[in-house]
Amino acid sequence: MANNETLLKKIIAHSKEYGYIFPSSEIYDSLAAVYDYGQYGVELKNNIRNYWWESMVHYHENIVGIDSAIFMHPTVWKASGHTDAFNDIFIDNKDSKKRYRVDLLIEEHIAKIEDKILKEISKVSQKYGDTFDEKMFRTTNKRIIEYQNTINEINKKFNEALDKKDFAEIKKIIEYLGIVCPVSGSKNWTEPRQFNLMFSTQIGSTSNEDNGLIYLRPETAQGIFVNFLNVQKSGRMKIPFGIAQTGKAFRNEIVARQFIFRMREFEQMEMQFFVKPGTELEWFSYWKEQRLKWHLSLGIPSNMFRYHDHERLAHYANAACDIEFNFPMGFKELEGIHSRTDFDLKSHEEYSGKKLRYFDNELNESYIPYVIETSIGLDRMFLAILSYSYKEEKLDDGSERVVLNIPSLLAPIKVAILPLVKKDGMPEKAKNIFNSIKTDFLCQYDEKDAIGRRYRRQDAIGTPYCITIDTQTLEDDTVTIRERDSMKQDRITINEISNTVNKRIKESYKLAC
Ligand code: ATP
Repeated sequence: MANNETLLKKIIAHSKEYGYIFPSSEIYDSLAAVYDYGQYGVELKNNIRNYWWESMVHYHENIVGIDSAIFMHPTVWKASGHTDAFNDIFIDNKDSKKRYRVDLLIEEHIAKIEDKILKEISKVSQKYGDTFDEKMFRTTNKRIIEYQNTINEINKKFNEALDKKDFAEIKKIIEYLGIVCPVSGSKNWTEPRQFNLMFSTQIGSTSNEDNGLIYLRPETAQGIFVNFLNVQKSGRMKIPFGIAQTGKAFRNEIVARQFIFRMREFEQMEMQFFVKPGTELEWFSYWKEQRLKWHLSLGIPSNMFRYHDHERLAHYANAACDIEFNFPMGFKELEGIHSRTDFDLKSHEEYSGKKLRYFDNELNESYIPYVIETSIGLDRMFLAILSYSYKEEKLDDGSERVVLNIPSLLAPIKVAILPLVKKDGMPEKAKNIFNSIKTDFLCQYDEKDAIGRRYRRQDAIGTPYCITIDTQTLEDDTVTIRERDSMKQDRITINEISNTVNKRIKESYKLAC
């Protein structure tokens, strides 16, 4: 798969043409970084969410789910640190008038140096094959050591400047690294400035400024923390245990490009796992591994994922790692796994004046649990699936097709029911079949156009199975079942359709739990 803008543009166009994603309020020229999911998009999104929910909540006896409100008491965001510190630093290019997040500009600069390291490694590893020792090469090769030192130096300087909120120093770093605006190519930058990402609104009918000011939640996690004791007590949960939730989050992102990768309204799937203090780093490693396994269970190749351990930790964390996915724009964060210590519960204790402790029967003492968080963006996962699935194929007969190889478990439509022609009783037979299996899977009936064109349309939607009703069906109650990826066709009886599809879907993924 090519890592380029063309691929992203093709995915955006395909998503619109085939009812996956539309720009929001398009007839009014859209709203930046807000998107609507169409008839197939909503099904794919639901399927991703369900798979996550089932893997997390249904397949773990010690994880339960909740659904907390988007509006929360404003003090929640004081306690969590969002009111004071949920800021991004941005900088404008005076020539292009484009705005950039400073951390992302620096991250991209570092990624270019990392690419050079990877190129060196790949060159030498090809030469030496199996005998190549990457670890040894990284620690002994002069050029790689120099590249790595440069990266460490940039990170160190940038982190120091961030800690001191020294904006003049941040600008100096950008100038020193020679970072140019990708649009204008110039180094004509403004001073960096800071911006809080939370959206605020007013609750009730008061017009008094401070009265009634509330925020749209920027993450779902705090709804879990404030309900920690409610769930623990009502569910008689014993540590270690987890609370999961999925739902909308809102961030007034400074730079919102790259389609649904960075949106202002998006959905998160988060799980907070409460553990005994001192065991958190073991659990951190456990969840890091488990979450990657979940991604791999869908059959997406492992070279599309990588871990990125954080050098700079958020104020609340003692370890953090991203699972990055190879999006069309390159490797970028898909999911974060954070060891959040007891920061959140402790802070809510202080601000609310209510004890948020767990009584450990074995130790005969109560403590504030430590927390491991797994946090993934549903929309980013959606983009990862689309980026992996979108393929343009040249077929043996010289024709071409666009196909979405969406893991069949997640595909919006599982089965298309297609009468070969629109006569001779085939549509009636096909509709009977549709009615007999519609409660097993989401099916689509289609009788319009030649069969070849209908197959192409289902390929473009990502439907894994097409059932075709032909003359033989009318004689012996058999149909053909065509597989999207191989395009192979078999003949099976009508009675076998549900079992066959079910079995093939089950075989296509490894249950993640
Ligand atoms: P980034 O560095 O890309 O801004 P983040 O580190 O702030 O992301 P977290 O606060 O850890 O992200 O949020 C957890 C997950 O939520 C991310 O891994 C991502 O999948 C998703 N996410 C965060 N911000 C957005 C957004 N603006 N649009 C879509 N998904 C998002």
